[in-house]
Amino acid sequence: MNALATARSAAVAARRSARRSAGTLLGSAVEVRTERPEVVLTFDDGPEPGGTDKVLSALDGAGATATFFVLLTRVRRYRSLLDEVLAAGHEVALHGVDHRALPTLPADEVARLVRGGRAELEDATGRPVRWFRPPYGRQTFRNWRSVTGAGLIPVLWGPTTWDWKDVSVAERVAKSQQGVRSGAIVLAHDGFAGPADGACDGPPPVLDRGEVIAGVLEAYADHGLSACSLEHALLSGDLVRETWFPG
Ligand SMILES: [Zn+2]
Repeated sequence: MNALATARSAAVAARRSARRSAGTLLGSAVEVRTERPEVVLTFDDGPEPGGTDKVLSALDGAGATATFFVLLTRVRRYRSLLDEVLAAGHEVALHGVDHRALPTLPADEVARLVRGGRAELEDATGRPVRWFRPPYGRQTFRNWRSVTGAGLIPVLWGPTTWDWKDVSVAERVAKSQQGVRSGAIVLAHDGFAGPADGACDGPPPVLDRGEVIAGVLEAYADHGLSACSLEHALLSGDLVRETWFPG
C-alpha cells in the first residue's frame, strides 16, 4: 500500500470510528461483535407466497435461523405464512406498515406508523418486537427518533445477496460473500414490495429465492460460517451501532 492509500485507509478508519463512537448514543445496528463463526441472516419484504415458503425450506435444510423484517401490508394478506415463520423458530421484526421511504412522509405520520406497526405486529406474533429496518435503509435523525421512541432499534446491513436485481444465481451467491465475516448482518429478501405495499420499484426479478439462499448458505458453510437470527447472535455477541442518517 502506498503512502496515499495508507492515509486514505486511515481516514476511512477514523471516520468509521467516529460514527461508532456517536453510534453508542445515536446508533443503528450495523453488525454483531462476536467470537462465534456465524453471520446474521435477515429477510425483508415478506411474507410472500412462493418466496417465504421456499426460503423456509432452504433454512430448514441448512439448520439455519433468520430474522424476518415483515411488511404489515403483507402480514394482513398472508397471515398463515407469518405463522409458518414463527413455528419454524425464526425471529420476526418490523420493516414497516408499508414500504414507503420514511423521509418522504410527514414526521408525525412516521411516528404514528412505527408505533402502531409495532403494536399490530406484536399482536400478530404474540411476542415482543425489537427491531425495525427502514425501507431502502433511508432514515433521517427525526425518523430515527420516532423509531427509537417507539421502543425499536433500526437495523441496517453489510453484505447483500443482490436478490432484487436480474443477475444469475452464481452472481448473487458471489455477491453475498463480499465483505462477509463473523457477526456480519446479511440482507436478503423473501418477497418483493410492489404498488400494494406503497413501492414503485418496477417488476419483481425472476428467481427461485430458495435456490439463492441454499447457495448462499452453502458458500458460507464452505468458509466455516453458519447463519442465525439477530436475537440468536446476541446470545453470545454485542450489537455494534453506528450513526446512519443518509436521509
Ligand atoms: Zn424492503
